[in-house]
Amino acid sequence: MAKRADAIIIGAGVIGAAIAFELAKRGYKTLNIDKLPASGYGPTSNSCAIVRAHYSSREGVAMAYEGFFYWKDWADYLGVEDESGLAKYMNCGTLLLESQTGHHEKVLKHYRDVGVEYEEWSPEQLKERMPIFDTHAFYPPKRPDDPHFWDQSEDELMGAIYTPGSGYVNDPQLASHNLQRAAEAHGGEFLFRATVAEIRRADGRVVGVTLSDGLEIDAPVVINVAGPHLDIVNEMAGATGDMNVRTKPLRHEVRMFDVVGCGIQNPRNDDFSVRHLDVLENQRRG
Ligand SMILES: Cc1cc2nc3c(=O)[nH]c(=O)nc-3n(C[C@H](O)[C@H](O)[C@H](O)COP(=O)(O)OP(=O)(O)OC[C@H]3O[C@@H](n4cnc5c(N)ncnc54)[C@H](O)[C@@H]3O)c2cc1C
Repeated sequence: MAKRADAIIIGAGVIGAAIAFELAKRGYKTLNIDKLPASGYGPTSNSCAIVRAHYSSREGVAMAYEGFFYWKDWADYLGVEDESGLAKYMNCGTLLLESQTGHHEKVLKHYRDVGVEYEEWSPEQLKERMPIFDTHAFYPPKRPDDPHFWDQSEDELMGAIYTPGSGYVNDPQLASHNLQRAAEAHGGEFLFRATVAEIRRADGRVVGVTLSDGLEIDAPVVINVAGPHLDIVNEMAGATGDMNVRTKPLRHEVRMFDVVGCGIQNPRNDDFSVRHLDVLENQRRG
């Protein structure tokens, strides 16, 4: 492995692997360093991998919308084979429910500006096209200790925004591996089971990193895509002083309900709601 790179990328999650691919394509000699054994093994592998464009900033909407096209033509975007196969884009569309929060108004403004295709559904259309949904509105949110937490609502949702181009990726870890292979095809390198312990600086500039085993690797550019650990890495670089947003890695227990294959692709399938409720009931009974 080279002890020098044009750009060191701390992290090989889906973002780190994608940055490596884009930089390597542009001729940078990249090196991703990750403490885990493979690309996308951290939070990326736990992601639901939903690809949506309904963000509240124009930049967020524009970037996510551009992503639709890469996901839809993934093999063409990568331009390489992967011995593990390619991740698949499930282009099922997404729904953003319209509520009194007004979030959808910010989204729609950016959608029109950027040119994202969408349909605005009235409450009646929402009921007709998604009969499994409870269309009651529960805004403003109540805390579980509020005596009215379980109250049924009389209010109805205002409608929904359907974005046909969105969907989800069937395997986010595999998508990261695909990006790794694509970066490697352009000369990018990946170092796994290696922890960055220090970011070295000289004359006010970053000059490289030192790993926990003492190995020093030099680079004029160090990119921090360490996921939930990015604040710790920013601290290594002495770069937290002007950060408005700080992060803290946390583990949170998540429950999963297996409702796959219950007819979700056909919302008119009455069977779905019955079987869905069965699954939930079985889960409740443990
Ligand atoms: C339960 C869950 C559901 C989600 N659902 C969605 C979704 O539906 N749609 C969506 O867009 N996003 C979703 N996300 C968010 C999405 O997973 C993340 O935004 C994305 O995976 C971040 O990728 P990343 O490459 O930035 O970071 P990560 O995947 O966190 O990768 C960072 C890597 O950095 C490495 N690292 C950290 N510190 C060091 C160090 N000092 N030295 C070496 N390596 C280091 C870690 O080992 C890790 O592999 C979800 C996340 C979770 C947890």
